[in-house]
Amino acid sequence: MNREHLNAQSDVTVLGLGQMGSALAGAFLAAGRRTTVWNRTPAKADALAAAGAVRAGTVAEAVTASELVVVCLLDHSAVSALLDPVAESLAGRTLVNLTSGSPEQAREMASWAAGHRVRYLDGGIMTTPDGVGDRASMILYSGSPEAFAAHRETLAVLGDPVDLGADAGLASLYDAGLLGLMWSVFGGWLHATALVGADGVAAGTFTPVAERWLTTVSGFMRRYAGQIDAGHYPGDDATIDVQLVAIEHLLHAGRERGIDGRLPELHRDLMAKAVAEGNGGDSYARLVDAFRGR
Ligand code: NAP
Repeated sequence: MNREHLNAQSDVTVLGLGQMGSALAGAFLAAGRRTTVWNRTPAKADALAAAGAVRAGTVAEAVTASELVVVCLLDHSAVSALLDPVAESLAGRTLVNLTSGSPEQAREMASWAAGHRVRYLDGGIMTTPDGVGDRASMILYSGSPEAFAAHRETLAVLGDPVDLGADAGLASLYDAGLLGLMWSVFGGWLHATALVGADGVAAGTFTPVAERWLTTVSGFMRRYAGQIDAGHYPGDDATIDVQLVAIEHLLHAGRERGIDGRLPELHRDLMAKAVAEGNGGDSYARLVDAFRGR
């Protein structure tokens, strides 16, 4: 550890130098921020130290090196175990927790931080390590508005900072929902790729067409969001009745080609239920009720 550097104070401390933590620290360094780093396995700090980071010998040294402390570990229990013993050293500083977790864990962490006079922001990194430092990448934040305002500029080094407001649980809630969206899109794309692939169409040929279609679909989502908020689902574009007939073509094509049909069968079943309940004339957005468990 270089004590002179620590005494001079860093702009930011990064705790946890796994794949993501190393990318975060690397982005701060690349943007010219004085960066202090710590990792449980010290060797993971070697490359960053060689690139100019200050290596802290202990967690306490790391958290007192900067007003802004970013933590990115495997999970929340690792974060609690690491930070509980240094809570007093963290008092008066800002903690940004970019470790994935549930909204409930984030809110628990926020109240722990408030109890120790620590300004707390929870975050959701909506990219992989190679996307950190790219302005096109979104990083979601929720929690202390003062902390976000004070450190917005530094956090912008990691990617576009999206402020979701004062409820610390929201970044994790959005993160979970957005990952669910990603898995659903991956599932639909992989199913479609298998389907067209059965007739010899390469994934690389099909995917640009699929990308254009996703742009159209996101336009539908924007329209349907208004309907969901209004609780009113005019079937003035494509009714559930019409789509229930259309999905049978997909199921038929899949059966003929030996494609696993469970994904479209789920959608077919949700549509059939809506029709059975007398809502076949509504738009597809009506199916939000099925997910709400109504
Ligand atoms: P990783 O490469 O496995 O790194 C895990 C880090 O956690 C390492 O620094 C590890 O230290 C540390 N750690 C684990 N248990 C610990 C403990 N009990 N005490 C102290 N340190 C501990 O994982 P990662 O990909 O960097 O992911 C880190 C977080 O970022 C996760 O919450 C993940 O969900 C989130 N995230 C990752 C991505 C991604 O694409 N990778 C994207 C978005 C969000 P050691 O080196 O000593 O093992």
